[in-house]
Amino acid sequence: MGRLFAVEIVYRGIFQKTLAKNISRAIVLAAHQEGKPGISFGRYGDSPERNGIPAKSFAIVATDDLTLEEGMAKYEPKEVDISIAVDDTLCKGVESWAWYGLQPINRLTKPGGTLIVTSREEPETLIAMCHRKESPYHLAIVKGIPSFSGLWVYKDDHTDVRILGAIAKFLPELFSLESVQKAILQEWNDPLKATSAARSYERVTSITVQPDQGNPEEPYKFDLPKWWEMREGIAIPCIPPGHAMQDQESQQAGGFQPERNPTFKKYTTRTMRPVVDFDTCIKCTLCWLQCPDSCFDVTPDGLYDANMAACCGCGVCEAVCPVKDCVTMVNEVAFSDNASQWEMWRKDKEGYKEWLKHKIEQRPERSHGFRYRGQYQEQVPGVMKIASAD
Ligand code: SF4
Ligand code: SF4
Repeated sequence: MGRLFAVEIVYRGIFQKTLAKNISRAIVLAAHQEGKPGISFGRYGDSPERNGIPAKSFAIVATDDLTLEEGMAKYEPKEVDISIAVDDTLCKGVESWAWYGLQPINRLTKPGGTLIVTSREEPETLIAMCHRKESPYHLAIVKGIPSFSGLWVYKDDHTDVRILGAIAKFLPELFSLESVQKAILQEWNDPLKATSAARSYERVTSITVQPDQGNPEEPYKFDLPKWWEMREGIAIPCIPPGHAMQDQESQQAGGFQPERNPTFKKYTTRTMRPVVDFDTCIKCTLCWLQCPDSCFDVTPDGLYDANMAACCGCGVCEAVCPVKDCVTMVNEVAFSDNASQWEMWRKDKEGYKEWLKHKIEQRPERSHGFRYRGQYQEQVPGVMKIASAD
């Protein structure tokens, strides 16, 4: 029996679909250059996709047809040689729209395999976001702003070929740099893209992540019901109505917290999160009314606290808030939990003001969503500059 190679590309639904497709297709074409058969496919459970919700594509390559057939006789690979996260906030975990609870980004990465992440962050920041694994694995960062565009447009900032160059470096048995450059020229007829792949190959490095490094939180687990426990027919239990909130210190009750799905949290959809300045909020209710996911809890004192387990980071609250700088979207990388901002503010108003200022200062350019036409044209040369200085 020959050897089987598996690569997964974890991406944000819709926004990075074309990027993921480019990478998975080119992996197979590059392996073909060396006579290895392969196939690339998206995971059925992720389709149709939703904006920003984590999704996966796979590329499976073998040294011969029979081994490929054997590898394909599975719903999806149980482990992969390389996991690719084309947005660094995916390191916090992924939960696809049709899945079952948050899963670590490195869940399928083989012992000794490599996780390649597109990011401008340092390795320590990304390691802290990834769940711990029992065996060591490698982390490699392809430096750059995570590439977002959409389904119908493509921001060609060479993220695709830079990742392909990194794969050639870390898994040379799959394909060599020469093979991937040939595939790039055949697919895109662009020598500059082939050069970008070579630059990435030369410059990208990896570090080993040990079992005691990373987020110690136990990954989501559940027991499948036994057949005799299943109910007859299809029964979808409804979510009960919400309840009043209670201020733990004053015991004041009031406001309203809707009940939410206990299993499907949605927050791994987020690349940015809103932070709220409760001192300037005029309680106009617009964020609460317009949030598409009913994320806002109404607090006993009539303020609006975005619930971070439910927020998908769409940015509507920032857009509708009539008070300047009252709601600000901040890079998700800047946060390590989903704690209530209102609770933090209520306990220490001065401390919260400092925290808010610090978080807003960390705010990079928006990672997805575009505020005006022409933003790609401005952003792509900037990203290319970072890539060539890398
Ligand atoms: S970003 Fe704002 S509007 Fe969008 S889901 Fe989160 S809280 Fe709701
Ligand atoms: S939209 Fe702004 S001002 Fe209005 S309730 Fe929400 S945070 Fe407060």
